[in-house]
Amino acid sequence: MANHKFFRQVNRNFDRAAKFVKFTPGLLRLIKMCNSTYHMQFPLEKDDGTIETINAWRAEHSHHKLPTKGGIRYSMLVNEDEVTALAALMTYKCAVVDVPFGGAKGGIQIDTKNYSKAELERITRRFTFELIAKNFIGPDIDVPAPDYGTGEQEMAWIVDTYKQLVPSLNSEGCVTGKPLELGGIRGRREATGRGVCFGIEEACRNREDMKELGLDMGIDGKTVIIQGFGNVGFYAAKFLMEAGALITGIAEMEGAVYNPKGLDVEKVFAHRKETGSILNYPGAENITDTSKALELDCDILVPAALENQITADNAHRIRARIIAEAANGPTTQEAHDIIKERGALIIPDNYLNAGGVTVSYFEWLKNLSHVRFGRMDKRFEENSMKKLLAAIGEISDRKFSERQLAELSIGAGELDLVNSGLQDTMIEAYNQINEIRKKHDIDLRTAAFVSAINKVGIIYERMGIFP
Ligand code: NAD
Repeated sequence: MANHKFFRQVNRNFDRAAKFVKFTPGLLRLIKMCNSTYHMQFPLEKDDGTIETINAWRAEHSHHKLPTKGGIRYSMLVNEDEVTALAALMTYKCAVVDVPFGGAKGGIQIDTKNYSKAELERITRRFTFELIAKNFIGPDIDVPAPDYGTGEQEMAWIVDTYKQLVPSLNSEGCVTGKPLELGGIRGRREATGRGVCFGIEEACRNREDMKELGLDMGIDGKTVIIQGFGNVGFYAAKFLMEAGALITGIAEMEGAVYNPKGLDVEKVFAHRKETGSILNYPGAENITDTSKALELDCDILVPAALENQITADNAHRIRARIIAEAANGPTTQEAHDIIKERGALIIPDNYLNAGGVTVSYFEWLKNLSHVRFGRMDKRFEENSMKKLLAAIGEISDRKFSERQLAELSIGAGELDLVNSGLQDTMIEAYNQINEIRKKHDIDLRTAAFVSAINKVGIIYERMGIFP
């Protein structure tokens, strides 16, 4: 029997929020439960000919909307509890940002470092085969995406396997986070980190909230520490730096680097790639106990690695005024209460890291419509703008230079539209949950749950399910 600690933690957060909604206990139970979980075990033939057994899961938490959606994680920490909890978080996250999917999550219990590329390919393709066999994948059923330990390569193997076994007009929509050439979308790779940046920026734009925290309005000059320098952490750090924040610390598995004057994110990334370690980055202080980086002085702490990083053990020592949860479940409930007591703001995972699934939604729409966003109207927009500028020129006797014309008459391409849709989503959702927070005098996490429960609950009510 799995020890469902993480799932219980998600449900405790749900229960806190349930006090502020008007559904029956039966309907609340219906929303909370996980609809289906598939635990598979399959053999892997290693490169040396030996056979190993692989454990993997896919959980579909809620079928109130289809398809279900959620990433696939490769890590030794993967278990049924984790996958179920993360699937539930996906249901709530999609509802918070109005992405019309149910929540799901998958995971394979492996340490990727122990496998060759060919072995990882065999594992991923077999996992996909198992999902197909049990009807746990498909553009209208369940659509995986990258998560911890996976990326475009794994998604490419999944879509290829799926297309071979279930060929159809829409088969490319069976998975998101794919390489562009296989039906991916511009901006997906960096979407979660970009969304994290948009979310933090929106929080910092609120004068009243910043005043309560004793911080100035705006992101400019705010000091930031990032834990986890993978897909989400790297892009969150990069975009925050570009927005004017000072990235003073970056923590990875092997240690952390700190420079109160700020680190150049891309250069730190290149240094790690070249030397194999984040440590010894020129001009920065090394911190060999990486967990200590969380406790350094900063305005914003961005945990972007894994769950349970901020616990009752270290929460008292965390000094950041804003904890921006880029990872899923980085703060335990005890730690959340300690931090809240101290008056810091937690921007919760079930809102903040929704950028990935938002752009995945755009990718899925692109796959079903078979046309790139902007393809039909980019030139039309450009030409209309040029005509308008020419007319203004004639009336006002003011001639625009070629450069001005080029700069002012840009039609929106796929990346522009994706980023605009993402920014709008993150801003709208933040203001929705912040309003709920203020109305009930609760924290943002509970407010995000209230928002999600209301949006999911109303669907069951409209379907006539009143348990
Ligand atoms: P990733 O595998 O690309 O990167 C994670 C990084 O964290 C790795 O570099 C790893 O070495 C590092 N790390 C692990 N434990 C650490 C520790 N104790 N201290 C410091 N660094 C540590 O994974 P990712 O896709 O960036 O996902 C990170 C988190 O974001 C996960 O919780 C994931 O569920 C969540 N998330 C990811 C996406 C996405 O689009 N990839 C979307 C939503 C949420």
